[in-house]
Amino acid sequence: MIKIENVTKIYKDHDEDIIAIDNISLEFENTGLVVIVGSSGCGKSTLLNILATLDMPNEGNIYIDDVNISKCSKKTLSKIRKSKISTVFQENNLLDNFSVKDNIYIIKNTEIIDDIEKLQIAGLLDKKASKISGGEAQRCAIARCLSKDTQYIFADEPTGSVDQENANIIFQMLKEISLNKLVIVVTHDIESANLYGDRIIELECGKVINDKVISNKNKETNNVNNNNENKISFLSRIRFCIKSLLSKTFLLVLSTIFIVSAIMGINLFYELFTMDNCTIVLNECYDKSQSYLLYSNRTSLPDEEVYDSITI
Ligand code: ADP
Ligand code: MG
Repeated sequence: MIKIENVTKIYKDHDEDIIAIDNISLEFENTGLVVIVGSSGCGKSTLLNILATLDMPNEGNIYIDDVNISKCSKKTLSKIRKSKISTVFQENNLLDNFSVKDNIYIIKNTEIIDDIEKLQIAGLLDKKASKISGGEAQRCAIARCLSKDTQYIFADEPTGSVDQENANIIFQMLKEISLNKLVIVVTHDIESANLYGDRIIELECGKVINDKVISNKNKETNNVNNNNENKISFLSRIRFCIKSLLSKTFLLVLSTIFIVSAIMGINLFYELFTMDNCTIVLNECYDKSQSYLLYSNRTSLPDEEVYDSITI
């Protein structure tokens, strides 16, 4: 979990104070795609850098998994950055003099072969980083994040210098990553923000002016499922239930035995409490194959003395 409390960042430009972040408090869960939007110069990059521990605020606290990084030592901070944080920037993402492979495998991880295929960079691995396009470099930077395998990923305008096709690949990949990790992206691409974001934070002049959680995507999906469920006809449901029951033969046999036993039990109790002496004797007579006389109306069977008279 990442939390910032009353964070303010002021840059000094000659004698002028520029308030880039003005008393912002935010909290982020461990997963999801959070998108930060706003006009140029409103403080998006500054906020992202502070969240990614690359920059320190003038005021306020930053907590990464409950560690107040504003107060921890350089060594601890470096450890946190290495183990928990990876970044994708708009430019200068890769070390130019190294191959793509070396850039991606800086933190050795061979388990990302599938992701390399998905990002369509398998053919670039042996190329020098300086010889690939901006879009390719962005996808390589995402592969590097995956390779580093940290809980928190920060991306500052990762689609800023790429075409729509590459932008879609990048956002789709970030979305996929965000199922298990927290991905915070700064972007100008409002359409993608709405399409992929789980939460959209809007900044203006260093302040949060809007912070909305886009939960209706899931709700919509659920509604679609619910509607489909409602559309299943009653007959189909019965058929489905029978089919499902038949497929569970053991359960069927067991429940049949249970139902039969229950009926027999109820019958037994009924007989036990309602059977009068007369009936008991008559039954006894039956058992002993004795001859007897029976009054037609069993409900008004006579007293004990009469029994003697009706049995031979
Ligand atoms: P955004 O990413 O939304 O475009 P930034 O966070 O980069 O905005 O910048 C916010 C404000 O802080 C801007 O007015 C910018 O000019 C100023 N700023 C950013 N970095 C510096 C810096 N290193 N020195 C002075 N002013 C800066
Ligand atoms: Mg910026």
